[in-house]
Amino acid sequence: MKISIVIPAYNEEENLPEVAARIKENLTGRYERELIFVDDGSRDDTQQVLRELHSQDPEIHYVALSRNFGHQSALRAGLDYATGDCIISLDADMQHPPQLLPELIGHWLAGYDIVYTQREDDEKLSWFKRSTSNAFYGLMNSLSSVSFEPGTADYRLIDRRVADVVRNSPDVELFLRGFIHWVGFRRKKVAYTPAARFRGKTKYTLHKMVKLALNGVTSFSVRPLHLATLAGAVVSALAFSYAFYALYILLFTDDAVPGWTSTLVSVLFIGGIQLLVLGIMGEYLGRLFVQSKQRPPYLVSETDGGLPVPPPRGSVTPDTTPRSPHSTPI
Ligand code: UDP
Ligand code: MG
Repeated sequence: MKISIVIPAYNEEENLPEVAARIKENLTGRYERELIFVDDGSRDDTQQVLRELHSQDPEIHYVALSRNFGHQSALRAGLDYATGDCIISLDADMQHPPQLLPELIGHWLAGYDIVYTQREDDEKLSWFKRSTSNAFYGLMNSLSSVSFEPGTADYRLIDRRVADVVRNSPDVELFLRGFIHWVGFRRKKVAYTPAARFRGKTKYTLHKMVKLALNGVTSFSVRPLHLATLAGAVVSALAFSYAFYALYILLFTDDAVPGWTSTLVSVLFIGGIQLLVLGIMGEYLGRLFVQSKQRPPYLVSETDGGLPVPPPRGSVTPDTTPRSPHSTPI
């Protein structure tokens, strides 16, 4: 039995030795283990630190991407390279407490295929992070058919079978948090209190958060398109009635005063709605465009010698895990 740990790292040179040590400390069971760090195109010495860690400890591996592809793609790279019977992903900054690892593995051994964690709100997180995160999950739940639980980030364990599903999915910009909900399987939630970032600053800039949110909404729902159509219908109904009213005033009364206010307001209002609807359609069209190019989600520039090349897409790893009888191979 083998446990893989995947850790995406973007400019995390100061955190890596500590996080590697804490993870290993908490993985003491009788199983093989591998730690796979994914250097997501860092500009600091992350890659150099990873090379050193690997030379000191053959259980520590790394995959370096050719540029910054973003957290979700880095996670995907790690999942592709992982060879374990289950794969746990966590952040490189110690905000995801490694002390939880034995508990996650315990639930997996009991037969759960996905063990995900939920962050309990905590004062250590900035007000901004908490409120943007809550707004995001609120929006996702009102717009999409899949239900999202607030605070469920990317600290989770997935069974090899689920990892194969992720690996074989053709989505170029996979929104992993949504996808993991969508796939189903037996799941278990574990709550945790996040720690403060060990060193350094957050690597999730506002720009990256907005991109993630847009990706999340457009990957899992066409409801914004329905809403756009609905808004369009309501506004044009109003506009038509007003046009009839204006015609009536013009033809049958003497009150036809040149009213620039109403003209201006209606033109701006309709113009605004049109732009919004066009924008929503543009977002979806853009996603189709990205998907149709079928570019790989990430490119690898270097790995350590000890990592096997991942099997091609479409292949399924035989299930050999001696777990509870609930689990049947798909
Ligand atoms: N990360 C990454 N690529 C990016 C941004 C972030 O691999 O473009 C990694 C980062 O190194 C960390 C994890 O994703 O391990 C979560 O990022 P961070 O802690 O900065 O986000 P926050 O906890 O503030 O949401
Ligand atoms: Mg963090």
